[in-house]
Amino acid sequence: MIELDDRLRALRLAAREWGEELRELGADLDRDPQDTGRFADAEAVRYIARMMIPPEFQDTALRASGHSFHGDRALERVIAVEEFGRGDAGAFLAAPGPSLSGGIVALLGDRAQKKWFFEHCADDADGPVWTFFGLTEPDHGSDASAMRTALVPAAGGDGSVLTGEKRYVGNAARARLGTVFARTGPGPLGISAVMVETGTAGFHASPLPTIGLRGAQICAVRLDGVAIPESRVLGRHLPASSRGMHAGTRMFNQFRPGVAALALGIAQAAYDYLEQHRAELVRGGGAALADLADRLSDTRQLVWRAAMSVDHDPAQGALASAAKARATDLAEHVTLRALELLGPGARFAHPRPEKWARDARGVEFMEGTNHMQRLNVAQGVVTGRIA
Ligand SMILES: Cc1cc2nc3c(=O)[nH]c(=O)nc-3n(C[C@H](O)[C@H](O)[C@H](O)COP(=O)(O)OP(=O)(O)OC[C@H]3O[C@@H](n4cnc5c(N)ncnc54)[C@H](O)[C@@H]3O)c2cc1C
Repeated sequence: MIELDDRLRALRLAAREWGEELRELGADLDRDPQDTGRFADAEAVRYIARMMIPPEFQDTALRASGHSFHGDRALERVIAVEEFGRGDAGAFLAAPGPSLSGGIVALLGDRAQKKWFFEHCADDADGPVWTFFGLTEPDHGSDASAMRTALVPAAGGDGSVLTGEKRYVGNAARARLGTVFARTGPGPLGISAVMVETGTAGFHASPLPTIGLRGAQICAVRLDGVAIPESRVLGRHLPASSRGMHAGTRMFNQFRPGVAALALGIAQAAYDYLEQHRAELVRGGGAALADLADRLSDTRQLVWRAAMSVDHDPAQGALASAAKARATDLAEHVTLRALELLGPGARFAHPRPEKWARDARGVEFMEGTNHMQRLNVAQGVVTGRIA
């Protein structure tokens, strides 16, 4: 059984308090995803915006009970993210900050690239700085290595040009910068990641209509010959075998426990709601609650174990996949069960669980669907990496 130390307990309490603020703000964003004005000033959002910016590129860190936090370890992130998800998962995903792009820049950037990217993220003098992460394409989701977006040398030899389409990209229409994966040649080594400023000619992003996680404004992105200077190509100083999708896999291993924690937060929120409405539950509600409570605490232990595992070795992602599959299944189960236990008409009478059920469905797809996670787990078992 994993127990948190004083430092992480302090983080959990601070994040829980801030997560509560996200509840109402998340409901506003669900109604109108453009409504980010009041939201961007919330303490939780300020913290999320700074999470992942390495200490050398910013002067503020979250402080709670005398400890400071930068969100640079998976265990630290899952503790905070569960509480933010318990507040509102859509609002968490709608927040500014380096997010997945920060992860890929941290892995692949040289010193000058990290400085450029993270200092941009930290410089919020002109308002919050959103980022986007462009990997998925209209016909290439799970099989990302089949991507067609191309990065080719510019005519005249000055840098490169990015052409193609990305889909389901969170926050792209409000982002100032982000990262895009593109093909530079055939095969698994012919993929590179580049940093892109959204103000560059040829970059277009438009929000897609969505049912859940509406605040995150999932977008379609079109890249019509976007100019990419050589200095924005990540991983130039690394061997070809460590760039592109290889880095993407390590980055997803590190972030997947965070998606699991987000799902766990949604599940916990739905459970808390059932507890508060215990008297209104249909017959059998008490026994159902006891079962859900056990599943929540078992899954929390798995999420923490997965985070510790990737903090120890980011190349080993099987536990992270297990945690993500288990937690997102649980989020769907608890939210749908909540609507059943609240009786006929619950979707109309209880807007909060109704929203959580919509949000939980969306989390299943993020950073690889659960079918893909189960394939990773099976591989981990077959190769003896997990028992
Ligand atoms: C809320 C949300 C936010 C997102 N944010 C981003 C983002 O910021 N950036 C980004 O690049 N992408 C993002 N995505 C996209 C996400 O990564 C993709 O949805 C995901 O990779 C699945 O791709 P797809 O939707 O094309 O489904 P497909 O790959 O077409 O899969 C469809 C179904 O087939 C199953 N399947 C596919 N291949 C196999 C296989 N080999 N074996 C068994 N089953 C299989 C899948 O599990 C799934 O159930 C986001 C998605 C969502 C829902």
